[in-house]
Amino acid sequence: MAGSLADDLLHWYDQAARALPWRQPPGGTSRPDPYAVWLAEVMLQQTTVMTAAPYWQRFLGRWPTVGALAGAEEAEVLREWAGLGYYARARNLLAAARVIAAAGRFPDSEQALRELPGVGPYTAAAIAAIAFNEVTVALDGNVERVAARLFDISDPLPGARRTLREALYPHVPPGRPGDFAQALMDLGATVCTPRAPRCRACPIGSACAARAAGTAEALPVKAPRRARPVRHGLAWWIDHGAAVALVRRPANGLLGGMPALPGTEWRAEPIRQHPFEARWIQEAGTVVHGFTHFELRLAIDRVQVPERFSRIGDQPVSWIPLGRLADAGLPTLYARAVARILGASEDRTP
Ligand code: SF4
Repeated sequence: MAGSLADDLLHWYDQAARALPWRQPPGGTSRPDPYAVWLAEVMLQQTTVMTAAPYWQRFLGRWPTVGALAGAEEAEVLREWAGLGYYARARNLLAAARVIAAAGRFPDSEQALRELPGVGPYTAAAIAAIAFNEVTVALDGNVERVAARLFDISDPLPGARRTLREALYPHVPPGRPGDFAQALMDLGATVCTPRAPRCRACPIGSACAARAAGTAEALPVKAPRRARPVRHGLAWWIDHGAAVALVRRPANGLLGGMPALPGTEWRAEPIRQHPFEARWIQEAGTVVHGFTHFELRLAIDRVQVPERFSRIGDQPVSWIPLGRLADAGLPTLYARAVARILGASEDRTP
């Protein structure tokens, strides 16, 4: 039913909606640009609003239309993406922009959006609801939590998603599905928070089954995570004449195509090797970095070499002046490795 729950939620949203740069004000009649919505939704996966906002502004400033993005070089897109992590998102963004540009129109339904590279159920539903007012349920982490509590559903996530979607769907108001989706996101972010939900201030509290049952803080239930396996790698900080050696990661695979410190493969066992002539080598600590499916322990060795070389194995090497490293577009893993070196280098400047 589309009735009091949607009315109460939208009434609250009309006053309390978060002002986000990619949003239209609540209740507006004009629809937002689907390209801008899509960009925001992709950036917000695994990233906070605060972090994503300046990236979103920069992307739109540089590539104001999906056609402009489609014509971009992948290396440039990855460079602008540097720091947001999960670089497959950036590559998929570009691939999808090229699909859209080739088709000559932006897909305008949830089903058609699902055909795009990298667009999963949540992103397709969010764009369809927000940009095209399609009646659908966009289930992100915030909305999962609100729905599990609202209907007091204790089946563990992620298996419970279908149940949650089916429970919410009858409440989506046909006139304002985009605002309804964003209102649920905002409620989850600001009122129905993971810990200490503010049930007394909740605009839909009177309809909330978990509030009535006293189970809100125990929901949602999540299936236990399997421990992430650990992989080990070694990166070489090779400097010569105030420049440092960088390579590009292989195009296929994690951080594909991104600039990186040269180093070994990532393996189950710690590894230490140096396939080049060195004047001296100094162990410089380890960066621990979480990827989705494993934890990486990246040891770093500082290496002084007698002369510059142009390749390590089959990888071409670029020598980047230390003063330009900040503009190299290093992904977070390597930016952290660099910060570790530069923060600890005062006592041993070659
Ligand atoms: Fe969440 Fe409490 Fe509102 Fe229920 S009443 S939706 S638990 S904030």
